[in-house]
Amino acid sequence: MFLENMIKGGWIEVIAGSMFSGKTEELLRRIKRAKIAKQKVGIFKPKTDTRYSQNDVVSHDANKVLSIPVSNAQEILEQAIGYEVVGIDEAQFFDDTLIEVCNKLAGKGIRVIIAGLDMDFEGKPFGVMPQLFAVAEYVTKVHAICVRCGNLANYSHRLTKDKSLVMLGEKAEYEAICRNCFNN
Ligand code: ZN
Repeated sequence: MFLENMIKGGWIEVIAGSMFSGKTEELLRRIKRAKIAKQKVGIFKPKTDTRYSQNDVVSHDANKVLSIPVSNAQEILEQAIGYEVVGIDEAQFFDDTLIEVCNKLAGKGIRVIIAGLDMDFEGKPFGVMPQLFAVAEYVTKVHAICVRCGNLANYSHRLTKDKSLVMLGEKAEYEAICRNCFNN
């Protein structure tokens, strides 16, 4: 469970895990609580994430919050005027300019909540995520359940032979598995 802190000014939170780990659900949970607190919130996501509609951050349980698709991290900075809380989903698809953007947002007093995949389908750290862990005040790792053995899972195993890193997918292309099953 994540309890909102009382730091004055802005800060950075990262929610990371594999596919099916509930990252977006956790992002939405925090954003909804901020909305209840009558804070101005916005969720940004990269335009590459086109699995669902262009203007909604939609988690797998169809829990919707309106969001803003952006081409790059700089656009978040330009569009986040007046926000008290900025959510960023699928952060692994942004380049490393996202670090400076998040630091700038937090420097303006904004609470920044980032959700993303910590590892790619080969089990390697995904893009900018490790650096975001480093600059964040809070890092939460969420886990899926291994579909093979029931253990806690932290790997997004790709079921197809496609080697493209940007390939997005649903249950047909990926399964969540644990370290033991990933190594076997
Ligand atoms: Zn397993």
